[in-house]
Amino acid sequence: MSEKTTDRPDISVIIPVFNEEQNLPRLYERLTRVMSGLGKSYETIFVDDGSRDGSVAMLTEFAHGDAHVVVIQLARNFGQHAAIFAGFEKALGHVVVTLDADLQNPPEEIPKLLAKIDEGFDVVGGWREQRKDSYLRTIPSYLVNKFTSRMLGCSMRDYGCMLRAYRRVIVQRMCRYREIASFIPALATAVGGKIVEVKVDHAERHAGDSKYGLVKLLKLNYDLVTGFSMFPLQLLSIIGFVMAFLGTGFGAFLAVRRLIVGPEVEGVFTLFAILFFFVGTLYMAMGLLGEYVGRIYMEVRGRPRFIVARVLRGDTAVEEQA
Ligand code: UDP
Ligand code: MG
Repeated sequence: MSEKTTDRPDISVIIPVFNEEQNLPRLYERLTRVMSGLGKSYETIFVDDGSRDGSVAMLTEFAHGDAHVVVIQLARNFGQHAAIFAGFEKALGHVVVTLDADLQNPPEEIPKLLAKIDEGFDVVGGWREQRKDSYLRTIPSYLVNKFTSRMLGCSMRDYGCMLRAYRRVIVQRMCRYREIASFIPALATAVGGKIVEVKVDHAERHAGDSKYGLVKLLKLNYDLVTGFSMFPLQLLSIIGFVMAFLGTGFGAFLAVRRLIVGPEVEGVFTLFAILFFFVGTLYMAMGLLGEYVGRIYMEVRGRPRFIVARVLRGDTAVEEQA
């Protein structure tokens, strides 16, 4: 162990890992090549987010053979953003880089981000011009990106890309936000600092499947949409107001029509269709309200965002005290 772990390395790389055994060897190899070529000191923090495959064994092996590697093992699966927060809290580097473990974010792009930090920016976001994901992912993500940019008043092209670099001070500021449901790239825009986006490559997942099922994906997008603004709630009352206004107008029109033309009987099923539409909208509105209420419930209980079970630096494993 030649490195002094108490000194701050120039760079901390944080990688959340959830069942990525097929990707880790290749990732580790490519990342090591890039990082050792930079001529800067660094640490690589793998955060195991409750993997049930051979990921932990593999990470342990990396740590034993390489003093750059730190492994944070969470007690169970807490989600990608919580895992990254666990990494943030342990990261020592002057600059912190995050990326995915599945090689969708090429490690070879890291120098590009670091160059922007050297230019004086505090946050550097990767922007995937050609995203290699299915339309099921890219279309909702496009809409959410647009909406979020509007709400935050900070226009970023790609909130979803996790290949990013932050100056240490930004990471410390983000760690002061204690909420459980958080969306890191959006949070980074809320804490001040100079932000820039750079185009980065995006590859298909090297192996395995996306760890985001439909429900998890929905939750993530709601985290982004509800986490930073009340605007969706305000939108509900605006829609309600407009509907009530139009409904009253329509009622008045029907009343007058009844006096002049007589009662109307046709179009009953059309009426049903319209009714279903409004009932559907109402349910969606209730769902949105529920998302806010559910998040309030999560927050007031004050549960921890993540629980660290064990930290491994080189050969020394430290069990976290509860
Ligand atoms: N991930 C995680 N916990 C989770 C889900 C995902 O740590 O609950 C990690 C995963 O191992 C990967 C990154 O987050 O390193 C991005 O996940 P994934 O590639 O499945 O997301 P996608 O690219 O489909 O958005
Ligand atoms: Mg991926």
